[in-house]
Amino acid sequence: MGEYRIPDQLKQFVTDNTIVVRSPGRINLIGEHTDYNNGFVLPAAIDKAVYVTIEQVSGTKLFLHSVDFNETVEIELNAIKPVPGHWSTYILGVVDQFLQKGKQIGGFKLSIYGDVPLGAGLSSSAAVECAVAFALNELLNARFSRKELALMAQAAEHTYAGVKCGIMDQFASLFGKKDHVIRLDCRSLEYEYFPLELGEYVIVLFDTMVKHSLASSEYNIRRSQCEEGVMLIGQNYSSVHSLRDATIEMVNECIGEFETAHRRCKYVVEEIDRLQKGCKDLERGDLKAFGQKMYATHEGLSKDYEVSCKELDYLVEYVKQYHMVIGARMMGGGFGGCTINIIKKDLVEELVNDLTVAYLKNMGKELKHYMVNIEDGTSIIN
Ligand code: ADP
Ligand code: MG
Repeated sequence: MGEYRIPDQLKQFVTDNTIVVRSPGRINLIGEHTDYNNGFVLPAAIDKAVYVTIEQVSGTKLFLHSVDFNETVEIELNAIKPVPGHWSTYILGVVDQFLQKGKQIGGFKLSIYGDVPLGAGLSSSAAVECAVAFALNELLNARFSRKELALMAQAAEHTYAGVKCGIMDQFASLFGKKDHVIRLDCRSLEYEYFPLELGEYVIVLFDTMVKHSLASSEYNIRRSQCEEGVMLIGQNYSSVHSLRDATIEMVNECIGEFETAHRRCKYVVEEIDRLQKGCKDLERGDLKAFGQKMYATHEGLSKDYEVSCKELDYLVEYVKQYHMVIGARMMGGGFGGCTINIIKKDLVEELVNDLTVAYLKNMGKELKHYMVNIEDGTSIIN
């Protein structure tokens, strides 16, 4: 377990009987758009996190204070409801999950602070939910397992934020392990850790600073294209219930004449296979082979799955010219957000400077970047 300290921003809220929980954001090394196809993902928790302090108070009122939004919300327990778009909704959604599970909750005072950038694709919302779930679990002595907490945090996002996310983000936040990635089987929720020994390399994210409005409509279209593919394959192979069960030969045989659906399904089947091989690379400590697969993922997401955008493609194409960047790809659902890059330490400063200038000149936007280290998942730090 690493050494995690209470951030200065929360120290004023901490007394002897305050519980303090840290829950990190996450990256995903490989395995994009595979979760809803029952495949695998390969996330890791990072050194940017959300922190929550909690302590019981008498009565039935909740006092929620956000340091980052400089705002306090007071609400009666029996009056909680979703407030989509407001920071409190992620917290109240988790409270609701505990109530749904029949847990008795009394009044409490909670304060929250984080340094996971909001809306950048590092899943600050999951970090909030998991921090709150873990803190409440401790406060109430409710004894839910980490897996149960992940599912409750996901349910909170569905019901109170209105975002029908998969389980990866919450799972990664709760199950992260320093210097390891988590291979999560989205079908069974079985997981295994693989070492990510970076040596002279670091992980850097480049933030396009764009979020195209296409993202959610195209997401739904991709999901239905995958379902269409599964239906076509299922006509010949009754054992295929998701693209996880399909091989590339099946995709070619059954969907070959449907050009678009074929490309979509081919990407997914290849990506699931690529992830499995990538884990072998990590076991061997072959970071370069792993990085090549990240480039291949980007190619697939851009050309076959078509969820990239010109800004993401620009950033990946740009870094490709440096042999000291051994892997790069868009991360997340697509149409904006960040790229994830594995870069030799010696190059980082120069590359960040050059790319910032080039990005402004060619894409007309200020580039942001985040260096991330892989850290442990949710824990109590006080
Ligand atoms: P992300 O990709 O970062 O998860 P979301 O839009 O899903 O982006 O979630 C961001 C929202 O989560 C914020 O607008 C805010 O409501 C909540 N949130 C994230 N971090 C914090 C924080 N430190 N304090 C309070 N709320 C937070
Ligand atoms: Mg989110």
